Amino acid sequence: MNAEERLALVREIDLARNCSHPIRLTGEVVSTETGEVNSKRLLVACKDRREVVCPACAYLYRADAWILVSTGLIGGKGTPASVASHPRLFVTLTAPSFGSVHTITASGGCVVRRDPLRESTDGAISRTFGDASRDFFERASQETHAHVPVCTQRHELDDPVLGKPLRPEFFDYDGAVLWNAHVSRLWNNTVQLIRRLLAEAGGLNQVRLRRAAQLHYLKVAEVQRRGLVHLHVILRVDGPEGAISEPPSWITSELLAEVIRRAVRRASVTDLRSRELRWGTIMDIRDLVSEPSGAPRVSSYIAKYATKTTGGRSELARRFRSRRQIVSVVGDPHVRRLALAAWDLGGRSELAHLRLRDHAHALGFTGQLITKSRGYSTTFRELREARTSFMVASSGVTSLAGTFHYEGRGYDDPRSSAWAEVLFAMQRELREEAFEARRGADHDGFGDPS
Ligand SMILES: [Zn+2]
Ligand SMILES: [Zn+2]
Repeated sequence: MNAEERLALVREIDLARNCSHPIRLTGEVVSTETGEVNSKRLLVACKDRREVVCPACAYLYRADAWILVSTGLIGGKGTPASVASHPRLFVTLTAPSFGSVHTITASGGCVVRRDPLRESTDGAISRTFGDASRDFFERASQETHAHVPVCTQRHELDDPVLGKPLRPEFFDYDGAVLWNAHVSRLWNNTVQLIRRLLAEAGGLNQVRLRRAAQLHYLKVAEVQRRGLVHLHVILRVDGPEGAISEPPSWITSELLAEVIRRAVRRASVTDLRSRELRWGTIMDIRDLVSEPSGAPRVSSYIAKYATKTTGGRSELARRFRSRRQIVSVVGDPHVRRLALAAWDLGGRSELAHLRLRDHAHALGFTGQLITKSRGYSTTFRELREARTSFMVASSGVTSLAGTFHYEGRGYDDPRSSAWAEVLFAMQRELREEAFEARRGADHDGFGDPS
């Protein structure tokens, strides 16, 4: 490649904003000022949220996710700053056990024998948001079984065996996949129950509650190492007009936490085999009002999950086309069995509505990764539109109209994808260095979308 070609390539990548697989459009552009018509080719960023697919687009998505979450916690982009005084909780909901897996317990060992009757939800609202929670979530994968085989090892954090079943032959793969497939419905039932119990707590019916308060949420799904979906949810109570209005004083963080705890214990959905699906007994509730540093931390935490594929694996980034493809591309035996279970269950007519084959790469999970109630904060769409109009304004091109049609995907020069990723990595590093230099050494992470 000569210098001129290289420059053209870099310019093209720059126009596609470092996207690895941009969409090619061709069409006619009309200048609304001069009436001049030109045929034009455009490269548009793919906007894929997944880091393993497109690092540059995922970076933007992550920044947007961060803004989406944090504006609902502390205000901004149309949400008033007064939401910071409304009751706001960060709740983690887990799946029940489908078989014992390798883990790291509080004592540092793997599986411990536990009295099944003592295993239960933590009573109090946690007041801190810290790394202590890791063990807490690990426990969710380790609910007690009658015949827990014992692993005497102490696993390191990066041990690939973590989350893998101790006895795969006893792991309920079908049950795990079906649970993932129903978690969105289970969540919807849980929210309805939270609203109902909140009304009851205030001595109101649901209509009256709506006149007094609104409940808003944002949730992100995370697939744990054992292949089951966790939900991380921010819940906020507003007044009757939404974020701009104060909630009634009787709805405190403590009351909301208690109502959530009861709703999570009671909520259930029935699958087609008439089995009741419920949440796991481990849950975590954190009060974001009492801990000011909680909001930026939770925002970063959720934004990080927003760009992940299932388990951060590139082979799980796209839909599978055949059973054989799963067998050949998924290296991890546990994940492969889960994906195969989803594929096989997807072939059964009574489960057709779950579209499990389309979601075998998500191990049965059919929902959106990030969802929120409308009143929580701004939307991804609004953030993207604001960015587009900013870019148009700063490009000096104001008066163009045109029609475009899809031509294909990717750059003409196949080397460009790799170049785009290198250029993006360099720009990102420079940007982050500049950011670090600006914010100083001992800041708590506020404002950092990465
Ligand atoms: Zn892209
Ligand atoms: Zn172990």
